[in-house]
Amino acid sequence: MASVTLSNIEKRFGSFVALPQLNLSIADGEFLVLLGPSGCGKTTTMRIVAGLEEASTGVLRIGDNIVNDILPKDRDVAMVFQNYGLYPHMTVAGNIAYPLKVRGVPKAERERQVRIAAEKVELGPLLERKPRELSGGQRQRVALARAIVRTPKVFLMDEPLSNLDAKLRVTMRAEIKHLQHELGVTTIYVTHDQIEAMTLADRVAVMNKGEIQQLAPPEEIYDRPANLFVAGFIGSPPMNLITGEITNGVFRAGALSLDKYQFPGEGKTVFGIRPEDMTVAEDGAGDVGGQIYAVELTGESNYVTIQLPGTRIIARAPRSWRGKPGDMASFNFNMSRIHLFDLDTGKRVEHLPTEVRGTTDHPCSELGRLSRSQQ
Ligand code: ATP
Repeated sequence: MASVTLSNIEKRFGSFVALPQLNLSIADGEFLVLLGPSGCGKTTTMRIVAGLEEASTGVLRIGDNIVNDILPKDRDVAMVFQNYGLYPHMTVAGNIAYPLKVRGVPKAERERQVRIAAEKVELGPLLERKPRELSGGQRQRVALARAIVRTPKVFLMDEPLSNLDAKLRVTMRAEIKHLQHELGVTTIYVTHDQIEAMTLADRVAVMNKGEIQQLAPPEEIYDRPANLFVAGFIGSPPMNLITGEITNGVFRAGALSLDKYQFPGEGKTVFGIRPEDMTVAEDGAGDVGGQIYAVELTGESNYVTIQLPGTRIIARAPRSWRGKPGDMASFNFNMSRIHLFDLDTGKRVEHLPTEVRGTTDHPCSELGRLSRSQQ
């Protein structure tokens, strides 16, 4: 087990810069998830750590050792990649046993370890099959079993669950989490599935265009996204992002005017609110209202899409809530859970609005003065 440190890693493919300047320290025993849209550089980062790709510049350490020039097989990393990399002429058992065989583990012990690993990924009855006789999901589980059959310094997993059906994916997710906890092996895990990232990670590195946008524990990424990219990327349905302007402490966007609150700052601002941070205003006089565009029952709640002039927002309502397209609906914002972003830089604005007690107080009330003095 070991830490992994990428210092000023740059990766160019010809004139294309896939990773401009990556700095990332992964602690010994940490579960780090690289999350981001297709093409953002997740796999490239992983392949550099594995030794399958050479960094153009920069230093890579596993533990205290600089490993830039160390061959993949000598780095003591176990990999599970999207395309499995199974040996077609070997059985499932042979594939899983391979890392033990090359390390000279005796046959009886190999067989014992293979059975344990195969049980963990629910492959017990298929040990004598060849990879071509397996489904994509089964092949992926062979690759997973082959990685977990021994205890390497580092696990590298690139979308290891992408070919599994929804139910098996949830089971395997828990299995990976349990295993990593049990073995304490430093793990780098690539996914574009944010639920996987949120559930598995100690820390998530959200990437875009080869750059880390935010590196933090999942709760922080969700509760305090550092910028508009992270805010829009994490959450399903995504955070509502409404572009408007703050003037004299009031946020306005089209017909929406939040004059019950004193907002910090001035100028073009993006107001963000997650669907679950809105509550139905039964009296119809909430912070935002409009005609219902769609209602989607998920089982545990309803997602209500409301048409505002020029935009739509999604709010979560209780399962028992009844509304239909064409009706009017009104929602309050939980103002302690809103997010503000500077439109020009995209960066999070740290201060939140405060509630103004009655319009006559505003903007000279104690609360108004307080919020302005915080700026
Ligand atoms: P995905 O989720 O689709 O797998 P990713 O985040 O893993 O995407 P990478 O595979 O790391 O993305 O690719 C990062 C960028 O580098 C992409 O724009 C890709 O086209 C480019 N790239 C990757 N490998 C090469 C290569 N061998 N030659 C040229 N460009 C490459």
